[in-house]
Order: sequence, then structure tokens, then C-alpha cells
Amino acid sequence: MTAREGRPLDRPIILPGHDSDNRALPFAIEGMDVRGRAVRLGTAVDAIVTAHAYPPAVAGLLAETLALTALLGSLLKEDGVITVQAKGSTRAPIDFLVADFSTPGDLRGYATLHAGPDDVPPAEDAALGELLGAEGTLVITLDQGARGQRYQGVVPLDAPDLATAAESYFSRSEQIPTALRLAAGRDAVSGHWRARGIMIQHLARGGASGPAASEVEQENWRRARLLMESVRREELLDPQLDLETILFRLFHEDGVRVFEPIGIAPRCRCSRARLRDVIARFSAADRAEITIGGEIVARCQFCGKTYHFDPAEFEG
Ligand SMILES: [Zn+2]
Repeated sequence: MTAREGRPLDRPIILPGHDSDNRALPFAIEGMDVRGRAVRLGTAVDAIVTAHAYPPAVAGLLAETLALTALLGSLLKEDGVITVQAKGSTRAPIDFLVADFSTPGDLRGYATLHAGPDDVPPAEDAALGELLGAEGTLVITLDQGARGQRYQGVVPLDAPDLATAAESYFSRSEQIPTALRLAAGRDAVSGHWRARGIMIQHLARGGASGPAASEVEQENWRRARLLMESVRREELLDPQLDLETILFRLFHEDGVRVFEPIGIAPRCRCSRARLRDVIARFSAADRAEITIGGEIVARCQFCGKTYHFDPAEFEG
């Protein structure tokens, strides 16, 4: 077996407890022209979400967004950054929500609210529209390659959930038939956040996919999609079920092959030098306005880390 060929998943593999957390697992369904990714985030997502005091519904949507971002990031073939942003309607509780993944496996994210915590629906799994409003948008940006290639796709957030919105991104922007499931929740005992995601894409032979694919290929895709959609939220979030077991349950009849997993860690790219560059671009008057008690304190929105600057650093 080589890393490129992967290994057939011919029985469920039981990994003890949380050993299989914080990773993305690439897989393929043999003979179906279907490739996929499954992601399981434990301490990684808990650390990012609990660095802020969000109402549960906002924390839950951020956790789902982190799972989606990790799924997309695990598709990167060269070094790069994937950014997923959700912009809320003017009167929606959430103003802005962002997560990014940078290779090899660094994940971070945060959300900002329009309203106070009391205006956010209390349910942990509130509907997307309740949090971002009917006119929200989902923006997915890929920065990749040595020449800094950039690609951006925008879709309306008029879907019942984030997974459905992401599916429409793939069908509109990339024209790859894609099916996705996302789930996030808190552990009933420990209260720690966790998030899971599973995604399949149809890559028909000879480059023909979508409506141009043959009837057999279309039927295969419909079947793969139905199988994936049969996974229940409780199954996805069950800490005892590792990704291999879930994939085995769903696809073993069709032959599923797994590849080298990608480790994911909560890591922020902020630095003193980056924040200094941002402050250096402010006008002297704006810098004076944010100087309090003889210093400028800047806080990273992603991880909450604070940096202290002497205003004299920016003079002259
Ligand atoms: Zn940071």
C-alpha cells in the first residue's frame, strides 16, 4: 500500500476515545467516481469557540463553519488559505462570521454580533435564517500558489442550513456536484464543543460530471448521496464513533478507501509585526484616538491575544 493508493476500509476500525479527534480523513468510494472528506474536531474547535463568550447558537454556527472550513481546506493540493465568511443581514443577530484554514492544518475563526446576546435565539441549533437573516451571503475565498492566485465565490445564504448553502456554492461556483453534512454540539457530560462534517463530490470519468454524466454515473451519484444523507446528527456527533466507523457504516457495500489523514490544530497567524503594520497605516489622529494611558492596545479578533505598542513606535 502506498499513501497515494490509500487503503481499503474493509472493517470498522475502533480507535480509543478521542484519539481520532482533530483530523480530516480523505476517502474515495471505489467504482463510483466519488471522492470525499470527513472531519472530526474536538479540542481544536472547543479552543477556538470558547476563546470568546458567544451565545450557544452563535458558538454552534461558528463550530459548524469551522468544520466546513476544515473540509474545504483538506482539499487544497498546494500551500494556501481557505476563508469562509458569512455576512448577516442588517437586522440579523450575527453581523459577521469567519473561519480560515491555512496549510498544513491551522484553523481559526470568530464571529461579531449586531445585537446583544439577548437578541440571539436561545436554541443551540437555531436555523441559519434566524442567525444571519434572509439576505445574508456566504463568501468562500481561496488564496493559493506561489504567485498568490486568488479565487472568490459568493452565494446567498437563503438555505435552511450551512451545509445546504455550501452545496449551492459548489454547484454554482465550481460546478462539481457536492453533498455535505455538518454537525456541531456540546458534549453532554463535559460541555466541550465538537464538530463533524462529511462531504462527497462526484468526479465523473472523462471530466463529464453534472448533467453531462452518463445515466449509470448519475445513478451512482444519487446512491452515494442517499447513503451519505442517511447519517444521523447523533451518529456524526457520537464521541465513540470515529470517522472510519462512520464511513464503513455508510459506504462499505460499495467499497470505501481511506487516505492519509490531515491533522488539524487551532492556530492563529496573528503576530506583533502584522498588527503593527495595520496600526502604522492609521492616520496620526486615529492613532491618537486609540492611545489610552500612553499605549495602544490591539486585540486579535481571531484568538483574543492582546499586543501592546508604544505610540512613539509609529512617529517619524
Ligand atoms: Zn490571533
